[in-house]
Amino acid sequence: MVLPIYTGTENDVLREVAKSVKKVTKQHLKLIKNMKQTMVNAHGLGLAAPQVGVGDRILIANFQYGEKVGEKNVVMALINPEIIKHSDEEVMGEEGCLSLPEVYAPVKRYKNILVRFLDEKGNEQHLELSELNARIIQHEIDHLDGKLFVDYLDEAVIGKYEKELAEANQF
Ligand SMILES: [Zn+2]
Repeated sequence: MVLPIYTGTENDVLREVAKSVKKVTKQHLKLIKNMKQTMVNAHGLGLAAPQVGVGDRILIANFQYGEKVGEKNVVMALINPEIIKHSDEEVMGEEGCLSLPEVYAPVKRYKNILVRFLDEKGNEQHLELSELNARIIQHEIDHLDGKLFVDYLDEAVIGKYEKELAEANQF
C-alpha cells in the first residue's frame, strides 16, 4: 500500500525525534513493506518512518550500486540505524527530499560511514557505505532526529525556494 508522504519544514511529525524500536513486530514489518512501496512509487532514494507519520526509528534505503542511478539498486530496511564510524572527509552533493518537493541543493556529508542497524528479522547488521549511499543514510537518519536537509542551507539558497517551501508547508 502506498502511504501519503508528509511534507513541509514546519510539519510537527517531521520535526520530532523518532523512538527506538525495542522489538521488531508484525506491525513494523507491515509498515516496512508499505514504506518500500511508497518510496519506489515516488522514485525516492530513501524514506524515513516520520515521512509517513510514524515516529519509529525505521528507514528504507534505495542503495545504488550501478554507474548510473537506477541501474543497479538494493532496497533495504534499516531499524535503529546508527553511524558508529565516519571518515573525516566530507563531500558536497545535491540532495532532494520527498517531503520537500522541487527543492534541490548541495549539502556536505561524510564521504564514508559505518552504520549499525537491525534488519527485518531483528538481527544486528553493519554496513560500510560511501558517497551516494552514505549520503542517503545521513539524510534519512536526520529525518529520525527531526532534521531536514534544508536546515543546512544558508538563507540565500532557501530564499530561492520560497515558493516550493510555502507549498510544502500547506499540509
Ligand atoms: Zn528526506
